[in-house]
Amino acid sequence: MTSFNFSTWPPHLIPEQLEALTLAATTYALSHGLLYLPPSQLPSNTQPCIPTTAIHAPLSLIPAPFPRAQFQAARELQSVYNVLYARVAMDTQFLDTVMGAEQGVGKADEFTGTLWRGWKKIREDGVRAQPLHLGLFRSDYLLHATEDRLALKQVEFNTISSSFGPLSERVAAMHRNILASTSYFSASPHLTAENFPENSTTSGLVEGLSKAHEAYGVRDARILFVVQPNERNVFDQRWLEYELLEKLTRWDRHQIHVIRQTIADLTASASLDPSTHALLLTSPTNPSPYEISTIYFRATYTPSDFPSPSYYDTRFLLERSRAIKCPSLPLQLAGGKKVQETLTRPGVLERFLSNEGAKWGARALDLTAHAANIRATWMGMWALDSEDPDIAAALDHLPASGQEQNVPPGTRLALLKAPSLVLKPQREGGGNNVYREAIPAFLDTLPAEEREAWIAMEMIETPRGVSGYLVRASPSSSATDNGSIEKKVVRAEVISELGIFGYALFGEGEVVEREVGWLVRTKGTESNEGGVAAGFSVLDSVVLV
Ligand code: ADP
Ligand code: MG
Repeated sequence: MTSFNFSTWPPHLIPEQLEALTLAATTYALSHGLLYLPPSQLPSNTQPCIPTTAIHAPLSLIPAPFPRAQFQAARELQSVYNVLYARVAMDTQFLDTVMGAEQGVGKADEFTGTLWRGWKKIREDGVRAQPLHLGLFRSDYLLHATEDRLALKQVEFNTISSSFGPLSERVAAMHRNILASTSYFSASPHLTAENFPENSTTSGLVEGLSKAHEAYGVRDARILFVVQPNERNVFDQRWLEYELLEKLTRWDRHQIHVIRQTIADLTASASLDPSTHALLLTSPTNPSPYEISTIYFRATYTPSDFPSPSYYDTRFLLERSRAIKCPSLPLQLAGGKKVQETLTRPGVLERFLSNEGAKWGARALDLTAHAANIRATWMGMWALDSEDPDIAAALDHLPASGQEQNVPPGTRLALLKAPSLVLKPQREGGGNNVYREAIPAFLDTLPAEEREAWIAMEMIETPRGVSGYLVRASPSSSATDNGSIEKKVVRAEVISELGIFGYALFGEGEVVEREVGWLVRTKGTESNEGGVAAGFSVLDSVVLV
C-alpha cells in the first residue's frame, strides 16, 4: 500500500472544468435543500418572517481526502463514546465536582454555574418526572501529522445542538452526483464511487428522536424543537422534521409531528400538568395544548440564548417536565470542555468504562478494553489553575522565561508551550478559543479567579499543503453574482474536520445507542475556527484514500 500524498490535492482542473463543476454543485445544492437562509436584513429583535429566498450552503467542490482506516476507526469508536457520555451524564457526583458552582468550573464560569444551579434545585425539589435522557452527539476529529504517521485526534465531543447532519448527507450526495455526471473529468484515480462512503445521517438522527418519542409512550404527543430566533441554518433542522413525519413508529404508520418554538415563545406557551408533569404547549394555530414527548434543543447552548433571567426559568421549567430532554441539563454539562479535560486524567476514563459504569443504570458492560483506543484519540489537556505534580514536573524540563512567575503550574506550562496550544473556555458554537501566539498576552490580562474556567489543549497539527475548492453563495442579490467564477470559487489551503454522529437513549437499564453518520467541514487555513456558519468554512464530504 502506498501512502497518499496530501500536498498533491486537489487534482488539476482547467478553468472550464472548474466552472462546470461549480455549476453542477450549486444547482444540485439549490434543488436538494442544501441551503441556508441569507443573512437577515432585519434587526435581530424582529420576529422571523416568512422567507422568500434561500442561498446554497457554502460547499466544497471536491471531497476532502481522508485515510480509510482512520475514518473507519472514528466510526467504530462512536459506540464507546455514546456509552461513555451517557455514563458521565448519570454520574451526578462527578458532574457536581467538575462542572458545579460550589466545587467545579461553575464557580468561575457564570453560564455553567447558572445551568448547574438550576439542575441542582430541580434535584433538591425531588423532581424525577423523566428518568430517560436522549443525546444526539457529534464527536469531532482532525488528523494529527507526526513524522511517520497520521493519527485521529478528537477536537471536542458535542452533546447539544450537534448540527449539519442532514446537510452533510446532502453534500455527500452532491459529490456522488457530480462524480456520476462528470467523473470529475478523470482528474484523479481516487475519485471513484467506492471511495465515496454512504451518508444516511438524517435517518439515523431521526431514529434517535423517534426512539425517545416511542419510549415516552403517548401516541399523539409531539416533539418540540427549541430554536434560536433568526436561525439561518433552518433547513438542516427542517430535514429532521420532514423525516420524522415519514418515520414509521410502533403505532403503525403513525407520524411524528414537530413544533418549533424559541425560548421566548415558550415563556408564554409552555406549562406543566400539575399531576403528571407532562409538558403542554399551546401554539398560535392550536390554542388547546399539545403534549410534548421529546425536547430537542437547537438553542440554549450559549449565554446569548438567555438575554434575561426569565429565559433560564423557562429552560428549567422544560427540565422539570416529563418530556425526554435532548439533552437534559446533566447531559449538556457532560459536554463541557472541562469534562473532556478531566477524562484525560489518570484512571478517570477507565472508571467510566469499567463495569462500575453499570451502577448509573447504563448496561453492565465492561468497555475497559477500548480505553487505550479512546485515549489514543486525545491530545494533551490540562487546567490553567492546575497544581498537579505531573504538570509541575513537566515544567522542570522547560527553560523558564520570566513571565510565568507567581502563577499556578497549569498556567506556567501554558505560557511555556503557548506556540503549540489552544486555550478553551466553557463555551459552544465557535469563536471563543485563544490560539498559539495570542496566548501569553491573553494570560497576562486573565484575572486569577477566571483561570479555572479555561483548559489548555495541545494543537492538532494537520497535514500541510492540502488544498481544496471552496464555493460560497454571494450573500447579496444574484445580480452581482452572475458569471464571476473567480470570485465564487476559492482555491485555498485547507483543514478538514471530521464529525461522527451518534445517539444514546439512556437512564434506565440499557443504553440504547448507535453510530449514525458523519460530516466533514473544511476551512481555509487562515482562519482558526471551524464553525461553517461563522467564517469562511464549507460543508464537505470525504474521498477515502
Ligand atoms: P466549539 O465548541 O466552539 O466549536 P471547538 O473545540 O470545536 O469549540 O473549537 C473550535 C475550532 O477550533 C475547531 O473546529 C477546530 O477547527 C479548532 N480547534 C479546536 N481545538 C483544536 C486543537 N486542539 N487543534 C487544532 N485545532 C483546534
Ligand atoms: Mg466545535
